[in-house]
Parts: sequence; structure tokens; C-alpha cells
Amino acid sequence: MINLKEYEVWFVTGSQHLYGPETLKQVAGHSQEIAAFFDKSEKIPVKIIFRPVMKTPEEITGLCIDANAARSCIGLITWCHTFSPSKMWINGLKILNKPVLHLHTQYNRDLPWNEIDMDFMNLNQSAHGDREHGFIMTRMRINRKVVVGHWQDKEVQERIGIWTRAAVAWDDIQNAKIARFGDNMREVAVTEGDKVEAQIRFGLSVNGYGVGDLVKIVNEVSEDEIDKLVKQYLEIFEVAAEGRPGGTYHLNVRYQARIEAGMRKFLEEGGFKGFTTTFEDLHGLEQLPGLASQRLMDSGYGFGAEGDWKHSALVRALKVMGAGLKGGCSFMEDYTYHLNPAGMKVLGAHMLEICPTIGDGKAKLEVHPLGIGGKDDPARLVFNVPAGPAINASLVDMGNRFRMIVNSVDCVAPDADLPKLPVARALWVPQPDLKIGAAAWIYAGGAHHTAFSQALTSEYIEDFCEMAGIEYIHIGRQTNLKDFKKELKWNEMYYLLAKGL
Ligand code: MN
Repeated sequence: MINLKEYEVWFVTGSQHLYGPETLKQVAGHSQEIAAFFDKSEKIPVKIIFRPVMKTPEEITGLCIDANAARSCIGLITWCHTFSPSKMWINGLKILNKPVLHLHTQYNRDLPWNEIDMDFMNLNQSAHGDREHGFIMTRMRINRKVVVGHWQDKEVQERIGIWTRAAVAWDDIQNAKIARFGDNMREVAVTEGDKVEAQIRFGLSVNGYGVGDLVKIVNEVSEDEIDKLVKQYLEIFEVAAEGRPGGTYHLNVRYQARIEAGMRKFLEEGGFKGFTTTFEDLHGLEQLPGLASQRLMDSGYGFGAEGDWKHSALVRALKVMGAGLKGGCSFMEDYTYHLNPAGMKVLGAHMLEICPTIGDGKAKLEVHPLGIGGKDDPARLVFNVPAGPAINASLVDMGNRFRMIVNSVDCVAPDADLPKLPVARALWVPQPDLKIGAAAWIYAGGAHHTAFSQALTSEYIEDFCEMAGIEYIHIGRQTNLKDFKKELKWNEMYYLLAKGL
């Protein structure tokens, strides 16, 4: 569903005619070499395309028009090997609507101490050329990522790779469609939001569909299609005896397969990238979509429970950013606490809908009653999440803007088995610790729902927020509440003023 190699980032070098054809030829050669190196780098998952060196305002404006129009182009990496006067860039940058990464590098890594002369100095000028380039983007209030270091440096490639993944997610969310089956859970505030503003800001469209339209497709799924899915379940998962053919709950498993096939058809036919459900509106469905939602998330769809379209879109965005990386991404909820002073932690889960991409191995397929919604006992996958670093990201609507809150967390193994807990679950310790992390989250208004990932770090989300031009709040090892509360207050002021800047 997500092929990162379909996307291009254009590698653009700024210069001017002042240097003469010989130097410009060298600049072009070096740029080509760097672009080809990034294109082959394992750390950078998209295509990196060399573009001819920019020497005039007309060329720069033309480049930006082309970049805007090229569907496969998801952003520009800019660099000034030599000095490129920035007034030449104004008209182009004014219309550019693709993300920018300003790479501050130098072709030559080390100073050639014994050979250095003025020719070397005139060619390797990014130390001042990129400062001119930085000024104009700051002067024009253009969000971008600045990466500093030698181009062969592993960390430089990693940071470019992170930005390209965020840029693919940014491209993916433009024109993305989220289908809502049922409305918001009654009276819940944080899952609400301005869908018109979301479309203006992210390109994302969110629309509701009668659950009856879904039920019709679900009911039309053939027994053959269900047989095929059940066969897959038996191969992939550890299916409990009651759920196997002939078992007391086998029909419940078959019914989730029916929902999965029907919902997949609905989403494919409508070109959707994510969906929401709500247990308050399941009219005509015999079970809450549990296993079905888990399987669709596994295929790359965004999901939000209780009508939560913002987190459905966010789960999808994180899945795009993390495509092909180790560790998965899931819809998540801070569910319950372990408040023992010897090691406080959060148990994250949901009623059913946690994506198996974050599981630690073979998932168990089980059927249990659900104490909410008044429907049949739904089939679901049950598993643990491996220990290791992760993030929880939450998108909330502050009324005048969207705010993204990210908490870096450390997943830990359960202290003991959880034999009676019939849902997939993750255990984590929020950074810097549970008391500060949870307090900061609550001050920031972060939701109980999140997009959870072990494939990504906060840097991916930060890059994504820069592209979207939305507020980004990070809770990590350095967070202290005194400064954090100030940051929230300052941001209130900034976002009031920023519209006029
Ligand atoms: Mn929930």
C-alpha cells in the first residue's frame, strides 16, 4: 500500500554566474555526485533527483513552478556550494508549496592544510553561502529543516531520511480521505475537531457514511471469501480452540472475517486511507469491528475508535513515515496505570483495536464478550509489545489551531503474565517519568487516544509539523514542568500573532 520509491526529492544547488563556467561545472559535478550518493543511501528511502545548478532568478522561479506541478516531487533539498544571492530566490520561494530541507554541507570534508589556496576558498563557500540562503527563508518565515554536516556523515543521511519520510506522509495526507462509520462518541470533547480547518491545513477530507451502507457490503461478502480469510487466520495466528472450525466461537471469527472483507471493499472502492468506527452506532453489524479493524490497520489503513478521525489520520501518517522500518504503528489509548513508586508505568490498550504490527511475535486470536455496545462477542488479536523506545503522538484542536503533542516513552516487558486480559496491550514508562510526563500531557491537552510507534522518533513528527505549519510540543527526557508550562503560554501568544506575521 505504501511504496516510498515512487516519490522524488529534488536536489537543488544554488549559485550564480559570477564564478564563471569552469567553477560552475565543478559545482554541478559535485552536486551530481552528492545527489547520486543520497539516491543510493540505504538511509534515504525516496529517489533523490539532481537538478541543474540555479544561477538566475528566472531559473529558480521556474524550478519552483515545476516542483509545485510535479506530482512525484515531495520536496526540495537546497544547498549553496557557492554564494547564491538570495534576492534571486524570493519569487520562487514565495510560490513554492513543497517542503524544503536546507542541507548545510561542504563537498570537501577536511581543510587541505598544505594545499589550500584562494581557488579552494572560492569554490567551497557554503559556510557563508548557506547563511545568505538561511537568511532569506527566515526573513520570509518559511518553515524548513536545517541539517548540518558532511554529506557522507551517517547522521546527516539519517536526518535527511527522516525528513523524506515525513515529506512522503505530508504528500500522502494531501487529498487523503477518511471514512467515518458513525459520529463522535456522544459528549466526548477531545475527539471532536474542525474538519473544514483540517482540510485547509492538511488537505485531508473527512466524511461520514451511513453504517447501513457498510452493512450492505458486509452482508454481501461470500462464504468463499470468508473461508479464504479464515484459512489465513489459521496460518498467521495462534487461534484458540473455541475459534477454530467446529469450536463454539468459530462463527464469531467468521463474522469478523466478513466485516474485514466488506470493510476492505468499501475502503478500496472509495479510495480511503483511514476510517473510524463507534460502538454507539453499529446498527446492523453483529459485532464491533475488532479483528477486522486490527487487520485493516495491519494493511496500512489509519484507524480511530469512537469517531476519532484525527487519530485515524495520524495513524495513517505514522504508518507512511515508518513504511519498511523495524517496529510498527497502531492506534493506542492510555488505558490504566501501575502507580507503584518502585516503577510507575502506563498500560496502553483499547477495547480491541490495536494493530498487530507492534506485536512481539505470534498473536493469539481469541473471542471474548465485550461489556460495552451490547453486541455479540467479538474476535480479536491478543499480544504484547516488545520492550524498547517508542512515541505516542496526539493531535488536538485548540480552537484556533491544531496542536501535536508527542511523548517519547520506553516500553517495558510486563512484570507478570496478564492471563485474564483479553486485549492486545503495551506497557511503557513515559519520559522523563510518569508523574512529569502525564502532568505535561494533561497541561498540553493531549488526548487519551494516540498514534503509537516503535519505528519512529519524535523528530519525524517534528518535521511533519513544520511542513503542516502546526504547533508541535515534545515531552521527553529534558522536560521540566516549569519551563513546559511557559512554553504552552508562549505558544498561545505566538499562534495568536503568527497569523499576522
Ligand atoms: Mn477509546
